[in-house]
Amino acid sequence: MPDNSEQHRKRMARKKAVVDAAITRADQDKGLLLVLTGNGKGKSSSAFGMVARTLGYGLKAGVAQFLKSRRDTGEEKFLGNQPNVQWHVLGDGFTWDTQNRDADIATAQHGWKIAQGLLGDASLHLVVLDELTYLLKYGYLDAQQVCADLAARPAMQHVVITGRAAPDCLLEMADTVSEIHDVKHAFRAGVRAQPGIDL
Ligand code: ATP
Ligand code: MG
Repeated sequence: MPDNSEQHRKRMARKKAVVDAAITRADQDKGLLLVLTGNGKGKSSSAFGMVARTLGYGLKAGVAQFLKSRRDTGEEKFLGNQPNVQWHVLGDGFTWDTQNRDADIATAQHGWKIAQGLLGDASLHLVVLDELTYLLKYGYLDAQQVCADLAARPAMQHVVITGRAAPDCLLEMADTVSEIHDVKHAFRAGVRAQPGIDL
């Protein structure tokens, strides 16, 4: 049965009081570590949304893409050309393309050196480590080293890590973790990757 308007007003007032109290309680600022994981679509595009927000404030961002087989994506065309963005593509396919574990490890370790540079740069408000989780999952990078470098970054720097199967140590140290659940994806119905949506 629909609420009458007085009941509705009271319920909304109670809700507002709870929300306002929670907002008042959250009075800290810190550089956040966010992990966006799970099998559903929306991890990297969410991270790039945070890059856009950062740029909107005139702040700087660094992006490292660890596993990427194509260079013709919308995010790189647009964000990669922004003066306040450092854009690094570090993966050249990996695993199923290269089929050479030693070469993959060397690529991963070179990539992590670039990431260490971003994590050491206090002028970067946000650092995105896109698809980093796979390098940890396959053991191409040492998770302890990665976590130590993340912990040593500037106190106010935000970091977003994306990728499926994020290891537990990363989930434990993260401030915010979202797991995107795959309910449906158009690709499985035969739709190819669409510009602006998938790449
Ligand atoms: P996006 O970059 O679109 O936010 P993502 O980072 O969550 O996606 P990835 O695993 O990095 O997901 O895959 C990137 C590409 O694969 C995108 O084109 C995306 O639409 C597609 N994709 C993501 N999840 C799925 C899925 N569950 N089934 C099929 N294709 C997917
Ligand atoms: Mg992705």
